[in-house]
Amino acid sequence: MIVILKNNPEERQLENLIQWLKSLNLDVHISVGAAHMILGLIGDTSSVDIDLIRALDIVEDVKRIQEPYKNANRKFHPDDTVVELSGGVQIGGGKLQLIAGPCSVESLEQICYVARKVKESGATVLRGGAFKPRTSPYAFQGLGGQGIDLLLEAKQETGLPVVTELMNITQLPLFDQIDVIQIGARNMQNFELLKELGHAGKPILLKRGLANTLEELLMSAEYIMANGNEQVMLCERGIRTFETATRNTLDISAVPLLKQMSHLPVIVDPSHATGIAKLVKPMAMAAAACGADGLIIEVHNDPPHALSDGKQSLTPEAFEDVSAAVRSIAPFAFHW
Ligand code: PEP
Ligand code: MN
Repeated sequence: MIVILKNNPEERQLENLIQWLKSLNLDVHISVGAAHMILGLIGDTSSVDIDLIRALDIVEDVKRIQEPYKNANRKFHPDDTVVELSGGVQIGGGKLQLIAGPCSVESLEQICYVARKVKESGATVLRGGAFKPRTSPYAFQGLGGQGIDLLLEAKQETGLPVVTELMNITQLPLFDQIDVIQIGARNMQNFELLKELGHAGKPILLKRGLANTLEELLMSAEYIMANGNEQVMLCERGIRTFETATRNTLDISAVPLLKQMSHLPVIVDPSHATGIAKLVKPMAMAAAACGADGLIIEVHNDPPHALSDGKQSLTPEAFEDVSAAVRSIAPFAFHW
């Protein structure tokens, strides 16, 4: 249930209302928007008398909401969430940001070279996997802690904030200087991990699971938010369908829908969504056109020899081309 307050509510009456709602065993989430203050009531609201609240002087309207996600719900929080990263990078609010870098960190030369190149082409965040969730236990598993150190050297050299995947909460101490923790598709419903991330004090890039609905994605965001961390970014990275021509199927309609359902930033990953380097540009353009807040794109210095995901990785030159194309579309992007 949400309570929309009139402009400038009288402070004592507001305090009384909040205390009373809390005495009904409800958590009260306060959101101060440009036009109105909104109280989101979290908990069992079945016994709350709507008409009684509506009759209060300071109340404009009261609405019951059906959606099970409360913290992530746009109805509670009409303004876009903007996640602030180091170097003044802002994700959310409709401005398209480019996150780019290799699937895996492979060496200092590789990550620093790619970081410099993608920065020159307009990327504002560097990606690079150190702990890799691979389908085969025989495939390259990532450089682990050493990979994190190399990524941090590239951050130091270029000033780009960095995003990398965490697979297990025991890895968290290594993430101290990491700007954004990525939770991969395979861990989207690792609920114990999500709860811990509520206390991580860092932005989380939450990828949609291989076979998960948008509501399930938002419920996973809810796990992080309800445990104290509101800095969550959602990522559409393609879902498993009957189609085998692409690695996954990019659910492009997820972008405007998620933006309508939630105030959280929405990022699109055209690399994992297609698995094919040549499809990254058209899918990136589609994502930009339908209002994504950012793109996360795999870029490698030598794709044929990449230790993971070479087939879908762009060369730095191809990334430059994609970057120019999506930036030319951004001013015409669809926004609700
Ligand atoms: C990745 O970003 O390298 C990755 C493994 O992505 P996903 O979890 O979407 O498969
Ligand atoms: Mn990858």
